[in-house]
Amino acid sequence: MIKDTLLKESKVSPDALEALYRALGKENVITHIEDRVCYSYDATATLQKAIPDVIIKASSTEEVSAVIKVADKFIIPVYPCGARSGLSGGSVPLHGGIVLDTTRMDRILEINPNDLMATVEPGVVTKRFQDEVARYKLFYPPDPGSAEFSTLGGNVAECSGGMAGLKYGVTRDYVLSLEVVLPDGSVINTGRRTLRSVAGYDLTRLFVGSEGTLGVFTKITVKLIPLPERVETLLAYFNDPEAAADAADGIILGQGIIPKTLEFVDGICINSIRGYGGAEIPEKANAFLLIDVDGEASLVEKDVAGVEKACWEHGAFQVVVAKTAKEREVLWAVRKSISPALFKVAGRKLNEDICVPRSKIKEVLRELYSLGERYSIHSACFGHIGDGNVHVNFLYGYGEEDEKKVAEMVEQMLRKVVSIGGTITGEHGIGIAKAEFLPLEVPSQEFQLMKSLKKFFDPKGIMNPGKIFIS
Ligand SMILES: Cc1cc2nc3c(=O)[nH]c(=O)nc-3n(C[C@H](O)[C@H](O)[C@H](O)COP(=O)(O)OP(=O)(O)OC[C@H]3O[C@@H](n4cnc5c(N)ncnc54)[C@H](O)[C@@H]3O)c2cc1C
Repeated sequence: MIKDTLLKESKVSPDALEALYRALGKENVITHIEDRVCYSYDATATLQKAIPDVIIKASSTEEVSAVIKVADKFIIPVYPCGARSGLSGGSVPLHGGIVLDTTRMDRILEINPNDLMATVEPGVVTKRFQDEVARYKLFYPPDPGSAEFSTLGGNVAECSGGMAGLKYGVTRDYVLSLEVVLPDGSVINTGRRTLRSVAGYDLTRLFVGSEGTLGVFTKITVKLIPLPERVETLLAYFNDPEAAADAADGIILGQGIIPKTLEFVDGICINSIRGYGGAEIPEKANAFLLIDVDGEASLVEKDVAGVEKACWEHGAFQVVVAKTAKEREVLWAVRKSISPALFKVAGRKLNEDICVPRSKIKEVLRELYSLGERYSIHSACFGHIGDGNVHVNFLYGYGEEDEKKVAEMVEQMLRKVVSIGGTITGEHGIGIAKAEFLPLEVPSQEFQLMKSLKKFFDPKGIMNPGKIFIS
């Protein structure tokens, strides 16, 4: 049984708790052990869990600022969080203290079709926002696989990528300005509501991807673009993952088509989802590409033909083109079911999200499968192959032996990725999961510069401590 440690080993002293009660009202300061346990982990299920002392569900910028002022005064760690769907441990309250949940701040404050922008609070769920702007025939392209439940605050803090990155870019390409509560409780605004601004340093870009370590976002202004007229979905099956990678090249380089999405799924993943949602997957399928093309109707028709051609030329043995919106939904539901389905294979999985230059995709796939064979641990791969982002999932069982093997596999993989010019994380962030490996990728002077920035913004080290940097 988990012991309630509040007021014993708590980082929140009785005086600090009183100050929080005074600032927010006792009813808004949650200390029940059941709630605290629920906030002790994120979707990185295999990572360390840590129980916070207090949870606060803020409803306004003023409340966020009031909490942080208390934390600043009493030097208490503060962990901002959204839906806690992160895959690097970013919102885990590693050293106890206060979890600051921003999901109640979920208002869409403005959608402005003339200025092609919208302003939201951080707790707005991504899919809800995408659907809402679509009513104005506008499009917010960043589309993480977690869009149905993750929040825009979390997306901005992680600079989430997702399905549409190849054609439309990632979260950072859409954030125009931010309202941020700094670690001393003061409130600043970065950037402008204009589609361009080069006035001074780009503080907005510094905050995007800062993983909750520099401040708490309380308002987010993003750019929107016109909603494409039509979208078509294709699914192409291959016997061999490398043939699928060749077909991806054939689509982009051979046919000159940049699809909205270009998703790769290998045979290990396929086997974990056979029969899901009525999807009939051919027995011999050992990889598939799921491709969306979008744009003006006549162009989309041309692109569908081009994508089909590239897939057949590179060894596809079956190509399915969805005929209805329902069929599109089924194909996408199959793709989105992979991440949870992989747990069936061995009980535990570690999801890594390396990204390599596109020309190195086959080399890295070969390395991953060879690692899997050497260690007798499945390395299941899927991901956004169009931009070189491979989600490799090491599927392993309970017990120290498997844990040791996976730790070795991760290190070897990351060394290889960095040696061929890739990055250790394409979209999930460093968090706790990759903190020990960041110096592998970032040279020492740049690493020190990053740490100095953190120190400048957060001299007391209270904002999401233990993330990105180990010490
Ligand atoms: C099934 C599944 C599929 C996924 N697919 C993708 C994908 O395709 N692409 C992708 O990029 N990610 C993906 N993810 C990872 C995850 O959903 C994203 O990182 C997402 O942006 C996290 O949002 P969240 O609201 O859950 O944030 P949380 O997990 O709660 O927090 C993530 C980070 O953001 C910080 N944070 C949260 N809110 C704020 C705020 N208001 N101010 C400052 N910092 C804040 C936290 O401190 C933490 O460091 C997936 C996850 C799952 C479970």
